[in-house]
Amino acid sequence: MPALAEVLAENTRVGTLWERLDERRIRCFACGHRCPILEGQPGVCKVRFHSGGELHVPWGYVAGVQCDPIEKKPFHHARPGALAYSFGMLGCDLHCGYCQNWVTSQAIRDPLAAAPVRRATPEALASQAVECGAEAIVSTYNEPLITAEWAVAVFERARAAGLVTGFVSNGNATPEALEYLRPWVDLYKVDLKSFNDRHYRELGGRLEPILDSLRRIHAMGFWLEVVTLVVPGFNDSDGELHAMAEFLAGISRDIPWHVTAFHKDYRMEEPANTSPEDLLRAARIGREAGLRYVYAGNIPGGVGGLEDTACPQCGERLIRRRGFRVLEYRLSAEGRCPSCATAIPGRWASVFRAQRTERPFLPG
Ligand code: SF4
Repeated sequence: MPALAEVLAENTRVGTLWERLDERRIRCFACGHRCPILEGQPGVCKVRFHSGGELHVPWGYVAGVQCDPIEKKPFHHARPGALAYSFGMLGCDLHCGYCQNWVTSQAIRDPLAAAPVRRATPEALASQAVECGAEAIVSTYNEPLITAEWAVAVFERARAAGLVTGFVSNGNATPEALEYLRPWVDLYKVDLKSFNDRHYRELGGRLEPILDSLRRIHAMGFWLEVVTLVVPGFNDSDGELHAMAEFLAGISRDIPWHVTAFHKDYRMEEPANTSPEDLLRAARIGREAGLRYVYAGNIPGGVGGLEDTACPQCGERLIRRRGFRVLEYRLSAEGRCPSCATAIPGRWASVFRAQRTERPFLPG
């Protein structure tokens, strides 16, 4: 049986997000690493490689497909209750020890991570999404920036079928990649993992490209929501949480910030799981920094009203949630508070239909 790396090397095509540097090297600019790559070598992500003077990128397969509630991504200000058809490939440009998708993201680096791949076409994925009743289609499970050309091909078909498109990303983007994605991506979720460059380097990245991308994603008109997995002892000091919240509020107070609970996973088994008190503290810091929409996730029913959306003007509860479940939806067709008519930022549907699913399931 061929090794996984051989299978992946066959499922490629020449990519778009690269340039020639000189006779020996090309540069990939799909992510903030901007790898210069010699003939026969892969970039840091291991899935994009230089062959014959061109950059070959992942194509024609998926390593995971699932029908998720959109609340699981999480997007709380985009089509609440919608089914988000979610697909992923393999590989990542970072190597976070606590990754909850490590089976797909670390498949090339870690022999213990073995995710089967299956051949796919953009047309088949878009069709299956529609058959499942999805309103949205999302590239997730691995870092979508490193498989951006494939995501765009899928999104072209999905848009033609009337679907909303989304990225669930670590945000280590480049201006060129964001320009390439802008026509095809509606929703963009970024994991802001820390506000400390040394911490980001431990995960295999740098802080500055992430911060630059957050500013650009918002300025370019993607619908942006930000998640911080609160990891005790890693990023949960008051000072670091405050720095993250203040940075986001400086871009826009309307960016939803999800502070979510860590549970032991992959190689990070030392810190304690995040407690509800930790999340309440993080959320309070977010509010004090001026953010209008702060959510606490991964502890359903354990964080008071921090799973709900409330009107920042009059305090009226607009969307009530528990976990991935939407219990009540009171926004007007125009996305306004029914009590004081304040416009709530987001990508709302004009009509809220019953939630399609509150838990993930496999299509077909
Ligand atoms: S996607 Fe990022 S890590 Fe992979 S080759 Fe391109 S620049 Fe390097």
